[in-house]
Amino acid sequence: MKKVAILGATGSVGRSTLDLIAAAPDRFQITALTAASNVEQLAADARRFGADLAVIADESLLPELTAALAGSDVRGAAGSEGLAEAAAGDADLVMAAIVGCAGLEPVMAAVQAGKTVALANKEALVTAGDLMIQASRRSGATLLPVDSEHNAIFQCLAGQDCQQVARLVLTASGGPFRSFSTAEMAQVSPEQAVAHPNWSMGAKISVDSATMMNKGLELIEAHHLFGLPSERIDIMVHPQSVVHSLVEYEDGSVLAQLGPSDMRVPIAHTLAWPERMSTNVERLDLLQVATLTFEAPDEQRFPALRLARRALEEGGAAPVVLNAANEVAVAAFLKGRIHFPDIAALVGRALDDMAEPAPMTIEDVLQLDARARDVAQQAILERA
Ligand code: NAD
Ligand code: MG
Repeated sequence: MKKVAILGATGSVGRSTLDLIAAAPDRFQITALTAASNVEQLAADARRFGADLAVIADESLLPELTAALAGSDVRGAAGSEGLAEAAAGDADLVMAAIVGCAGLEPVMAAVQAGKTVALANKEALVTAGDLMIQASRRSGATLLPVDSEHNAIFQCLAGQDCQQVARLVLTASGGPFRSFSTAEMAQVSPEQAVAHPNWSMGAKISVDSATMMNKGLELIEAHHLFGLPSERIDIMVHPQSVVHSLVEYEDGSVLAQLGPSDMRVPIAHTLAWPERMSTNVERLDLLQVATLTFEAPDEQRFPALRLARRALEEGGAAPVVLNAANEVAVAAFLKGRIHFPDIAALVGRALDDMAEPAPMTIEDVLQLDARARDVAQQAILERA
């Protein structure tokens, strides 16, 4: 039995993980589940899966959680201490599926405890990739990429390092606005932005896919996971989302991983690793797909791509500022406070305005993240 803790169990990745585990009860045992504020769902799943610990991030909701767990064997906890306990406690595998920089401290707690971490929370790597990789070397933690592109690359590398790799190619669907003009994109609504053509995901990452900031964050994520510089990581638009990414070796061989566009496939890969598990996801039918197409990304219409590459190449504080300004801008867009093109504009402005030294500790990262959020919030107020 593999013991699994899920950070962000009520989200899209968290629920897909529970789905897979429910179908393989003889292989996995849930030890801990966490959520931001959905007490009802958290308590129901903790009871259903017989978890030892359920953690609600919002401390004011602890009494409610305790009441919802009454009469069960599940212990309730709250706040950052509770999250750290879930991350570093009694689990063989920690699924890190909190969205945004909020996941950074719990992910770090799991890494420092030497866990095998299935990492969905890309913002944690973007903002603190160097610190996290260093910490995992010290503790012996293993990072398994859940993000479909990075999971594809991980599978193509088959346990080798990147020494014989010429370049990595991240594929991108291009999102719902792939063929929209700049003028058309100025008019889009949050509902249109979250309606991804191929993948069903949480709201934040769906908007990131629409701006293509998601691919920009994934570029930085790939750099940290696989240790290659920006110039050896390319991005290719592939609207069918069948080829999940590619590895080009120095001899000219190119390996790709293909599959249905269902996150349960990469999640299952990390859950069962180094073995495999069966899933009941719909199989990829290439005869049905028939045509696979590839095109170069357009950085004019999708400036977020250029901003993310700039942040990676500048290094230091830039990726933290990029991520923080993007989180604030996406939240404002989802609330209807700014227009779609303002997201990238705000991120660009934050990068221009904030030249700060590289953060050396997680506290530095969190302080810088908070300052960058203030700068972005201020810019939104000025705009209104
Ligand atoms: P989601 O919004 O559906 O779920 C997020 C989860 O995090 C929820 O359980 C929520 O309760 C929890 N959470 C949110 N804010 C929190 C906070 N402040 N403190 C503690 N917990 C908090 O998000 P998602 O789509 O499942 O994405 C999760 C992560 O996985 C993101 O980093 C995303 O980029 C990455 N990812 C997701 C997908 C996907 O298909 N959804 C694919 C690749 C990568
Ligand atoms: Mg992805």
